[in-house]
Amino acid sequence: MLHQVSDRSSGSDGQNKASLREDLQEFLSREAPLHQLDDLTKVNSVTLETVLRCLHARYMADMFYTNAGCTLVALNPFKLVPQLYTPELMREYHSAPQPEKLKPHIFTVAEQTYRNVKSLIDPVNQSIVVSGESGAGKTWTSRCLMKFYAVVAAAPTSWESPKIAERIEQRILNSNPVMEAFGNACTLRNNNSSRFGKFIQLQLNRAQQMTGAAVQTYLLEKTRVAYQASSERNFHIFYQIYKGASEDERFQWHLPKGATFSWLPNAERTLEEDCFEVTREAMMHLGIDIPTQNNIFKVLAGLLHLGNVRFADSEDEAHPCQLMDSAKCFVRTSASLLGLHEDTLLETVQIRTIRAGRQQQVFRKPCSRGECDTRRDCLAKVVYARLFDWLVSVINSSICADPDSWTAFIGLLDVYGFESFPDNSLEQLCINYANEKLQQHFVAHYLRAQQEEYALEGLEWSFVNYQDNQTCLDLIEGSPISICSLLNEECRLNRPSSAAQLQVRIESALADSPCLGHNRLSQEPSFIVVHYAGPVRYLTAGLVEKNKDPVPPELTELLQLSHDPLLTVLFPTQPKEKTQEEPSGQSRAPVLTVVSKFKASLEQLLLVLHSTTPHYIRCIKPNSQGQPQTFFQEEVVSQLEACGLVETIHISAAGFPIRVSHQNFLERYALLRRLGPHMPSGLRSPHATRGYSGQLARTEEATLQTVLRDLLHALPALTQVAATPADP
Ligand code: ATP
Ligand code: MG
Repeated sequence: MLHQVSDRSSGSDGQNKASLREDLQEFLSREAPLHQLDDLTKVNSVTLETVLRCLHARYMADMFYTNAGCTLVALNPFKLVPQLYTPELMREYHSAPQPEKLKPHIFTVAEQTYRNVKSLIDPVNQSIVVSGESGAGKTWTSRCLMKFYAVVAAAPTSWESPKIAERIEQRILNSNPVMEAFGNACTLRNNNSSRFGKFIQLQLNRAQQMTGAAVQTYLLEKTRVAYQASSERNFHIFYQIYKGASEDERFQWHLPKGATFSWLPNAERTLEEDCFEVTREAMMHLGIDIPTQNNIFKVLAGLLHLGNVRFADSEDEAHPCQLMDSAKCFVRTSASLLGLHEDTLLETVQIRTIRAGRQQQVFRKPCSRGECDTRRDCLAKVVYARLFDWLVSVINSSICADPDSWTAFIGLLDVYGFESFPDNSLEQLCINYANEKLQQHFVAHYLRAQQEEYALEGLEWSFVNYQDNQTCLDLIEGSPISICSLLNEECRLNRPSSAAQLQVRIESALADSPCLGHNRLSQEPSFIVVHYAGPVRYLTAGLVEKNKDPVPPELTELLQLSHDPLLTVLFPTQPKEKTQEEPSGQSRAPVLTVVSKFKASLEQLLLVLHSTTPHYIRCIKPNSQGQPQTFFQEEVVSQLEACGLVETIHISAAGFPIRVSHQNFLERYALLRRLGPHMPSGLRSPHATRGYSGQLARTEEATLQTVLRDLLHALPALTQVAATPADP
């Protein structure tokens, strides 16, 4: 382009004018081909609107990945695009001299991450944080990243192994279907929604081969075992057993065809995820043998029967709740599948044991119908949660490498995104708290990356008063008083009016926090936290109870009596676990609440992340209907806000928001040099190209405005030149 302009300018005056007119007309009418911009920070200028237009254009052109500075934005295609994930393409990105020059892809991030480990004498651990809202594609992306490393970082010796399944990479990949069967469920937002957070550490040796992996999980939504919202389902594994068991297994597990279970709603829908065989095979490769598998499935069938146990109110004051006649068979079957005595099971659910006084005397109090239901559900939840944790530890022992055999790791974090529903509770508080922490980590990293980039290009810069989200974090977890500390305090005090007390204390003790909003219109007691992604209203009712997550000691003791081999492992008699139990009598042992455990695991995670070089993939759901080629701008905007991309845009705007490649700069503006006396003075000033050095030319917003103003002034002259008829 530049050459053409120069060549023409050397011709006769008439030709010169004609070509200048054409060039000018083209210049004035030129629309930036948005879908060709593969980095959002190169959109001029970086605003929410331009970013959105660019993403929209790219999505419609089947370009699902776009860079945004140090982040990769991944739009969910909602259709199969197999050509994007072939081993050949993985190798292409792996072998490219500069993978960042190829089209944006998760493989670019994967490869850069991989090279970062290698490029240094002392390997530096890396992490890839994959975030986004439910259904945006985090788990899909994480799986693809794992497959990438299974291809490019496979240990050569393992390829010689006669059985593919024995290879460590394959075993690591096998952990996915197992964890998804037990930890994922069909929800309104995603048919395969992960109901837990996951950090997987891929371990590499000095030769950069994957020698093992370790999985850490966060906050499994165990309530789903006993409660599924309308149109949602229980964890996939229950449906897999129910649909996939053989005749013989159906008989053993008491799952006759057509049987109905209240904890198995929407079983008539068939999903891709219902494949029992895939789970069994993956379990097998992870070293979980058939008898152990059958034991697991038998216990799960026992839980399904437990879910059909129904109670009714009774007139008898001494026994306010009675088992319904129709439910007797379910108690019997459930007890038999769980290795318990039928009577003991029923009695434990129906009668509460209270220890009181100095002598810790035992009192037995028959429960109300509501209490019986809660205890039945609690029994199922505690069994499922321990089973899940046990499975994770079995998987880890199968895939984790010997500590001496690896020197660096790449961590993949598949973590639930920011959530805001009309009513929010402890689950959302924890999730949003985690997102605040991760956002802070991201902003710190992004600012640092910007600084380094500017320094490299010799630019002067300052991020004027950039506010990070520390104030919000202080409100949630700060010391000495914060929402978490007040919640824990109420759990410790264990008073009947805890919800009301919590409301009063939050409103008084935390009133000064700029991140605490007040919801005066709300009918129910609640408080608002102004998160980086927007305000969220949390209902106070139920928070304290959920935070205690009480497991009555008699339920744990009941399970310790089981003669089922698996439950014996899950509920050992020694050592006695006190952590989740109700504080009994005058015991002063500190109770580990949900938020305190979550806070501790989050801090641990952040410590790990801080010790790594982070990379970010932000998954975006272009529409909530799961339709291909459909891009709803409003839905995308709220996700850009929630995943912090809007904040990234703001940070970008606080620095140099305009970035033009050297080549583009010349192509676009060389023409103006030919305007001679009509040349806008702004472009003649040294400020116009201030910041240009090396590959990039940058302009500060203010300078750009000056240039535009000058251009406007020059417009009559420009149009005059453009409108002048060509000389004959
Ligand atoms: P959740 O938070 O609920 O677990 P998620 O972000 O993990 O959600 P995924 O389960 O990864 O979401 O993706 C949801 C669905 O979107 C997938 O089951 C798949 O159908 C589709 N999907 C996501 N990414 C892709 C992709 N790159 N190509 C094709 N389909 C995809
Ligand atoms: Mg997921």
